[in-house]
Parts: sequence; structure tokens; C-alpha cells
Amino acid sequence: MSQDDQLLSRVRGLLQENTISTPSYVYFLDEIEERCKQVAAAFSDRFRMSYAVKSNPNASLLSSMRPHIDLLDASSIAEVEYGLAAGYAPEVISFSGPAKRQFELERCVEIGTLKVVVESADELATLNQLAHEAGKTITILLRLNPLQVPKSFGINMAGAASPFGFDEESLDAVVPLIAAATSLNLVGFHIYSATNSTKESAIADNFAIFVKLFDLASKTFDIEPEHLIFGAGFGIPYAKEGKALDLVELKSKVEDAVSGIDSIPRLAKAHCVLELGRFLVGPAGYFLTQVLVEKDTRGKKVRICDGGMNNHLAACGLMGMFLRRPWPMWNVTSDEQEDEEIFTLTGPLCTTIDTLAKDVPLQGAKKGDIIAVGMSGAYGFTASPNNFISHPAPQEYVVTGDTLSVA
Ligand SMILES: *Cc1c(COP(=O)(O)O)cnc(C)c1O
Repeated sequence: MSQDDQLLSRVRGLLQENTISTPSYVYFLDEIEERCKQVAAAFSDRFRMSYAVKSNPNASLLSSMRPHIDLLDASSIAEVEYGLAAGYAPEVISFSGPAKRQFELERCVEIGTLKVVVESADELATLNQLAHEAGKTITILLRLNPLQVPKSFGINMAGAASPFGFDEESLDAVVPLIAAATSLNLVGFHIYSATNSTKESAIADNFAIFVKLFDLASKTFDIEPEHLIFGAGFGIPYAKEGKALDLVELKSKVEDAVSGIDSIPRLAKAHCVLELGRFLVGPAGYFLTQVLVEKDTRGKKVRICDGGMNNHLAACGLMGMFLRRPWPMWNVTSDEQEDEEIFTLTGPLCTTIDTLAKDVPLQGAKKGDIIAVGMSGAYGFTASPNNFISHPAPQEYVVTGDTLSVA
């Protein structure tokens, strides 16, 4: 059985044993733990593992991941607080984000031991001033923005003008700012320049670019960094025919790309960190939506569901995707022997952009049937405009073994 088949048969079993409301998200916590272990097994001799909270900040999920990951990356002070509430120590939380507000930086200084990933000269000066006033020294990393990203990343933040981090070619100008920031302690660098690649060689090529830039930055700032964070960009297949990353091949290519670090004296002692979001949690979550209305119209079998772009923006192709292809989805209430037919699935909203899938093959889609959308553990609930048109928000559930809980 493929991994999707196993999880889908668990979804079917859960629907038979429990009352599960729709629209909803179901996250398999044991599967997330398993994915963390697989990444650790492949990469732990080189990398520590960090989880990017923004991909899914669900509290139960954060708690259950804690034994399996080393660090968290938060993108807002609220995400920092979620991490603290889930039992993570402030020392293992890095806080990135291009426009941290005054109150967020004040809270960083109050907590005192977060790793603040500084992204602009302005932020550097403000944080230094606040730390100075509090008589504290705050640990920082600098986020670097490389000039290059290899092809094959779905989302690319490098090269062009960008709100993120310090431009690779302008680091010299930052040196005096760091020297003047006497209440900040620069301990390392962070790069997250592209993501969602399922091509092993592209990820490895990107890591080679990171190593060069980490080397350059360490020389420029004249430090031996303790931490080098690799925003890893591991992608997942958002289509049924898509290919998943092969961790064995990826590990070997990445190791070839980064092993030069060992012979760069300034970098040799640094802790390298693999910072991941969607790869750890995406494939372990499903969005469930129920067919409310069957409508055959102008040659199409349109089925209108109780959740659409309001609850799952990304699956509707509205979150930075160029090609609008149906995500992996299945009818999880139909007879599994049923023949496939082609359907168009929409959500319940009064707008034409609320389309979950055009021309998707499904084993039927009758009123009352439940459609499960795969790859929904990341950037689902948290990345959707749940308030738009004021329908009820989806319920989030977590599953461990046979036990389903509201999360
Ligand atoms: C969002 C984010 C990530 C995670 O990205 P994925 O595509 O989910 O792996 C990693 N690092 C930073 C700084 C981020 O903002």
C-alpha cells in the first residue's frame, strides 16, 4: 500500500467510528513523528532539525513534535508564544520575519534568550536600543538574501528586490552597524531563499550556494558562527502523479554539496540546522469537505462542497501557484470499487474563484459524500481566509493510532 493509501484507509476507518464534522482538518501526529524520524535518520550526522511554525501552528501538533525536533522557527511573536506554551525553551526558538514590530522586539528582549533573526538595518538598530535600555545582550543571526537560486523551486525569494534579509552584495555596509550594536551578539546566519522543490539536485545546488554565502558572511563579519540555518526548501508532491523526494538520494547529494564546510576553519564548528515546514507536516494532514449540492450544468458535473477557498486557499490554487492542477483528492465515503468520473468541485462561496478542482477524477461525488484533500497538513487552516463570507471555521482534529481528538 502506498503511504496515501494507508492514511486514507485510516481516514475511512475514523469516519466510520467517529462523528467528524466538515469542513475539517485531520492531522496524523504519529505520521508527523515518523517523518521527523526519517529526516533525522538521513541527516542527523550533519544537521539539527528546525520546524517552521507558520506551516502549521496547531498546539497539539507542536507539542507532539517536541521530542523529535531540535529547534523551532517562529514568524511572529504569537508563534513564539505558541512554541513556549508547547514547552519549547526560548533558546531553541529562532524568530524570523521581515517586519517585526516594536512590541514584538520588546517581548524578545523581555524573554531574553530567543535567537532573533534580524532582517533589516532598521530592526538591528531598534533591537539594539531596546536591549541596551534593558541592560541585556540579545543573541542574533542575520538573514542573508543570496543573488542566486537554482531552477526547480516552486517559490523563489532570492536575486530580485526583496523584503527578506540582507542582500548578499551589500554586506560590507552592514559591518559597521553590527560593530555599533554593542547589545547584540551575532552568532550566525540564516538563509531561506526558495522552497517547494522536489528535485534532489536543485536542493543540493542551493545548499552549495548557502555554504559559499555563509563563508563570505563569516569573513565579512569576522566571526566563527555557532549556527548556520539552512531554510531547506524540501517540497512535497501537490498532484497525484507527483514525485516525492527520495531522502537517501537527497542526503547523499546534500552531503556532497555541504561537506566542504569541514575544511573551512571559520565554519567547521558551526551547528548546521535544517529548517523545514511543509515536508514534515504537509503529507500527514487531510482537509475533509462534504458535498452539499449536485449540479449537472452545461456538460459538467459540478459538486458544491461545504468548504472551499475560505478554508483551504492553497488547494484552490490561490497561494503562489502558477499551474492550477487539482491537488490529490479522494472520495473517502464511496465504495472503493466505484468507477471514476470527472467532476468539478467548488466551495460554498459566492465567488467564481472558489474552485477546489476542475475536472478531477473521483469515485463518485454524491450529496453527503466526503472528499479528502491530501497534502493539507501545511498551509491549510492557518493560511486560509476562514472569515471570508462568514461560514463556520473548520474543526481541526489530531489522530494518534486509533484515537481522534479535537485539537
Ligand atoms: C516558511 C518558512 C520556512 C518553511 O518553509 P517550507 O516551504 O514549509 O519548508 C522555513 N524558514 C522560514 C524562515 C520560513 O519563513
